[in-house]
Amino acid sequence: MKKKPEWLKVSYNKAAVEEVNGLMAKLKLNTVCKEANCPNLGECYKKKTATFMILGRTCTRNCRFCNVTSGAVEPVDPKEPQHLAEAVKELDLNHVVITSVTRDDLKDGGAGHFADTIRAVRELNPGVSIEVLIPDLQGVQRDLDRIIAANPDVINHNVETVRELYSVVRPEADYDRSMAVLEYVKKQASHIKTKTGIMVGLGETDEQVYQVMDDCLKVGCDIFTIGQYLQPSPQHLEVKAYVIPEKFAQYKKIGEAKGFHYVASSPLVRSSYRAEEALKEGKNN
Ligand code: SF4
Ligand code: SF4
Repeated sequence: MKKKPEWLKVSYNKAAVEEVNGLMAKLKLNTVCKEANCPNLGECYKKKTATFMILGRTCTRNCRFCNVTSGAVEPVDPKEPQHLAEAVKELDLNHVVITSVTRDDLKDGGAGHFADTIRAVRELNPGVSIEVLIPDLQGVQRDLDRIIAANPDVINHNVETVRELYSVVRPEADYDRSMAVLEYVKKQASHIKTKTGIMVGLGETDEQVYQVMDDCLKVGCDIFTIGQYLQPSPQHLEVKAYVIPEKFAQYKKIGEAKGFHYVASSPLVRSSYRAEEALKEGKNN
């Protein structure tokens, strides 16, 4: 695996990580922070921010960049919405990000469970802003409607990479279907902020990155995130390049000039990194 440059080395706050992990284990909850081996774990846990992963720890898809286990899925825990709402309260969060593995095995793709979780969090934590990072739900509008009806503040669906790399990076996904998800949400509920993001360092060109931005703006997307792809293990896709911080700054400048309300772009950005700031900035612009 390629040696990481200095700008990707981060400090790790062991005490904060153990505290949040303890609470997650007690409430039988999962975080994407831990499952995806996120490099920001120390910083986010110290700020008592976490991205919860609902619908189990096993995914029905097997994207070549992702550290989440794929294979035989677990049954859905009906108590999960309530437990997650309790964790938000206990951690005293202002902004919560809720995501899931992809559950192509479920009739509604897990949309009903997402909606129940949004409602449970809001009921126990009025005033907390809620962001959901959803799978493509195979583009089924009826399922998207269930999530839209629960009225989260942000609906995020990651495009992950440029169109040209889909067959290598996300062979089970479809670029146009992901664009259609973002477009449908905006058309149905223009007050909900839409958000998407990509990883770079997978071999994409600048022109391809700008094309993704244009495609996302065309479907009304408000917030865009760009971060460095990191190879979780030797079995995952190789990093083709460590993109320098100056290039990320350029992406941000150009993305905001093109029309996004907010672009978060730096090597360690993940779609949920400083998500509360992104929402606030997005609202101000
Ligand atoms: Fe990971 Fe999402 Fe792909 Fe599943 S669908 S393997 S959680 S990126
Ligand atoms: Fe968790 Fe997101 Fe922070 Fe990573 S960036 S540690 S996934 S909240």
